[in-house]
Amino acid sequence: MVKIIYSKKCLEFGQPGHPESPERIRSIYEHLKDDCEIVQPMAATEADILSVHTADLVQQVKSGRFYDADTPAYSDIFSYALLAAGGALTATELMLGGTLSMSLMRPPGHHAGKGFLGGFCYFNNVAIAVVRALNDIDRVAIIDFDCHHGNGTQDIFVGHDRVLYVSLHQSPLYPGTGFRSELNCLNYPVMAGSGEVEYLDELDRALDEVSDFEPGVVAVSAGFDTFKEDPLTNVVLDVGTYEKIGDRIKSLGKPILTVLEGGYSEKLAECVSSYLKGLER
Ligand SMILES: [Zn+2]
Repeated sequence: MVKIIYSKKCLEFGQPGHPESPERIRSIYEHLKDDCEIVQPMAATEADILSVHTADLVQQVKSGRFYDADTPAYSDIFSYALLAAGGALTATELMLGGTLSMSLMRPPGHHAGKGFLGGFCYFNNVAIAVVRALNDIDRVAIIDFDCHHGNGTQDIFVGHDRVLYVSLHQSPLYPGTGFRSELNCLNYPVMAGSGEVEYLDELDRALDEVSDFEPGVVAVSAGFDTFKEDPLTNVVLDVGTYEKIGDRIKSLGKPILTVLEGGYSEKLAECVSSYLKGLER
C-alpha cells in the first residue's frame, strides 16, 4: 500500500484564480484518505535546501523579496516551501525503508533551479530528495512525467554522473526548454494533441534508458497536466493512462518515491489514484 505524505498546512496559501490552488490537493486528499495511510511530512532544514539551491535564492524566498507573475510572494511562503521539500525528504526516508510513498505537498518544485524560482515552484522538492538519497545510493534516476519540462531539475543535475534525468513533456510549451537532450538529461518532447499511444511509446523509450543506467532507486516527478481536460496544456491522456504509467515505472523493479508536480483539471484526484493503482500492482 502506498503511503501518502500530506499536511493540511499546505492548503493555507493561495490566490483566487491561480491554477496552482489548495483545492487541487484537498481534492486528492479527500479521494485517497480512506484507502491510504497518511504520513505527516518532516520539515526540511535550510541546510537541506542549500544542498541544491544558492544562498541567494534561499534568501529571496525567505524575505519574500522577489517578483514572478506565476510564482507569487505569498506570506510565509518560505515555511510552506520548506514543508513541501520535507514531504519529498519523508518520501526518501520511506523509500529507503522499503515503503512506496507519494508526497502530495505543494508548492511543486521542478521549475526551481539552483538559483531561480518560477512556474509555481520555489524550491526543487524532487532534487532535494534525490540529493538525500545519493548519501545512501550510488545512482538515482529521475522520471519526470509532468506536461512541462523540468528546467529546474535539469539545471541542478546536468552533468551529474550519478543522476539520470528523463523528462517527457509537451513541446513547445512553457518554460521553452527541453527540446533536446543534454548530457545526462534526456528529453522526450511530445507534440500537442499526443494521446496515449504516442505518449506510452515515448515513455517506453525513456524507461529503456533508465533501465540501462541501472539506478539503485527511482524518483518520480509526477504531473497530471497531460490529462486531456487540463486547462493549461494540450496533451490528451485519459485517466486510465496514468495506471499504465505507474505500472511501467513499477516494472523497472526499483524502489520508488513519487513527488506531486502539476495537474490542474477537475479530475486530478482520479488521475493520481489511477497512477497509484498502477504503482501498487
Ligand atoms: Zn506542469
